[in-house]
Amino acid sequence: AARIAGVSKTFGAQQVLDDISIDVAEGEFVTLLGASGCGKSTLLNLVAGLETPTAGTIDVPGGRPALMFQEHALFPWLTAGKNIELALKLRGMPKAERPAEAERLLELVRLKGAYRKRVHELSGGMRQRVALARALAQDSNLLLMDEPFAALDAITRDVLHEELTRIWAETNVAVLFVTHNVREAVRLAERVVLLSSRPGRIAREWEVGIPHPRRIEDADVAGLSV
Ligand code: ATP
Ligand code: MG
Repeated sequence: AARIAGVSKTFGAQQVLDDISIDVAEGEFVTLLGASGCGKSTLLNLVAGLETPTAGTIDVPGGRPALMFQEHALFPWLTAGKNIELALKLRGMPKAERPAEAERLLELVRLKGAYRKRVHELSGGMRQRVALARALAQDSNLLLMDEPFAALDAITRDVLHEELTRIWAETNVAVLFVTHNVREAVRLAERVVLLSSRPGRIAREWEVGIPHPRRIEDADVAGLSV
C-alpha cells in the first residue's frame, strides 16, 4: 500500500529524517513509534504528499491515502452526516447515494444515531469516530493516522483501539499509525517501526504477534513513554 525508499527530509539546516525505508503491504497495520520531535508527522506528511522528500522516493500505488489527525478537523457546525457526505462528494459519489453511504459508515464506527447531530455537540471520542468514518469515506486502501487518540482519556482510547482493529480487520485497509506511546504501538500493530531522533532513523523493527512485556521494556529503555 506504500513504499518508502531511502527517504530523507531536511528543513533548512535541520535534517529531520535520514534514509528511512518502510514497506507497508496491502492490508498491513504498521505503527511508527518514536519520541516527540523525531519526525513521525513529517514522515506521514511525506506519504500523504503534503511535503516532498529531500532524497528518496515514496510510492503509494493505491492512490491518495486517507488522513486522520489528533485534531479531528471536522466542520463543527455541520452534522456528522454532512461531514461524511462532503468526503463522499470529493470522492465523486453521486448526491443521491451519499446519505445511505454516510449512514453505513456511521454504523461501522458505531455512531448510528449521530447522523443529524452537529459535531460540536458530540464528545471528543464521538468526534474521533466521525473523523474515522470520514477518513474511511475516502475509500482509500491506505489510512494514515497521526496520534488520532492522543487527546482522549485512557478508557475512550481503549475502546477506540478495539473499534479500529475491528474495522481494519473488516475492511482490510492498510494502516500506518503514528504514536509516541509504546503500549498503543504494540497493542495495535502487526509490525512496529521505532524511529530514533536527530535525525530520525529506523532504530529497530519488530513483528508483534502477541504483545510481549519484554518489547515494552526494550522500548522503555529507548526513552519513550509507556
Ligand atoms: P510529535 O510526537 O511531537 O508530534 P513528531 O515526531 O511528529 O513529534 P515532527 O512534527 O515530524 O515530529 O517534527 C520533527 C522535526 O522537524 C521538529 O524539529 C520540527 O520542528 C521540524 N519540522 C517539522 N515540520 C517542519 C516545517 N514545515 N518546517 C521546519 N521544520 C519543521
Ligand atoms: Mg507529530
